[in-house]
Amino acid sequence: MSDIATNLQVVRERVGAACAAVGRAPDEVRILAVSKTWPAAAVQAAAAAGQRAFGENYVQEALEKIAVIADPALEWHFIGPLQANKTRPVAEHFAWVHSVDRLRLAERLSAQRPDDAVPLQVCVQVNVSGEAQKSGCPPEQAAHLCRQVAALPRLRLRGLMAIPAPSDDPAAQRRPFAELRRLQAALRDDGLELDTLSMGMSGDLEAAVAEGATLVRIGTAIFGERTKP
Ligand SMILES: *Cc1c(COP(=O)(O)O)cnc(C)c1O
Repeated sequence: MSDIATNLQVVRERVGAACAAVGRAPDEVRILAVSKTWPAAAVQAAAAAGQRAFGENYVQEALEKIAVIADPALEWHFIGPLQANKTRPVAEHFAWVHSVDRLRLAERLSAQRPDDAVPLQVCVQVNVSGEAQKSGCPPEQAAHLCRQVAALPRLRLRGLMAIPAPSDDPAAQRRPFAELRRLQAALRDDGLELDTLSMGMSGDLEAAVAEGATLVRIGTAIFGERTKP
């Protein structure tokens, strides 16, 4: 087995163990393989080991990889900060966008989504407490933004996404994930259909699964340490 296949197996086992620890079924949590900075060959090695969903952060890098690999069985998720002037290729070439944090992005993605494609699957990124970066909408604005996104014709609102600051302390890791879970529950009570909690990375996937993650975004634990930014 390649290193990537072995690593993927380890990640699947971590997800399985994290689910078992809190009484969840392992198929409640999808693994998104975050392939940013890694070449097409790395994606193909993971695909050969059964991985279907891949996450990318940089538009140009992703477009090149998607074109080279040209595998219709793969599902591409855009997870990085997105500039409004770069929405068109994302609307055209991705299945999901996890990083919608303002209406203008959502409106452009909806307008630019090709008519012959299924709606673009979208998560609203929320800046929960302790966030490492500035992107993400403030939690108190999430309900309003979710309603606006849900009303756009070519988008399908699926859930919420967050990138909390890294921490080695399991209790500290869980706090922002719990905050996102509570926010999702409140929005559902308000009538929004949200089936996805996109949270958890290589260092904190167990905490995220314990708090209800349905999709974990895993780069380093599958592909190795990134050297490029
Ligand atoms: C890079 C990245 C990941 C993967 O992080 P690892 O720690 O390498 O698993 C997940 N989500 C987002 C938004 C990222 O930018």
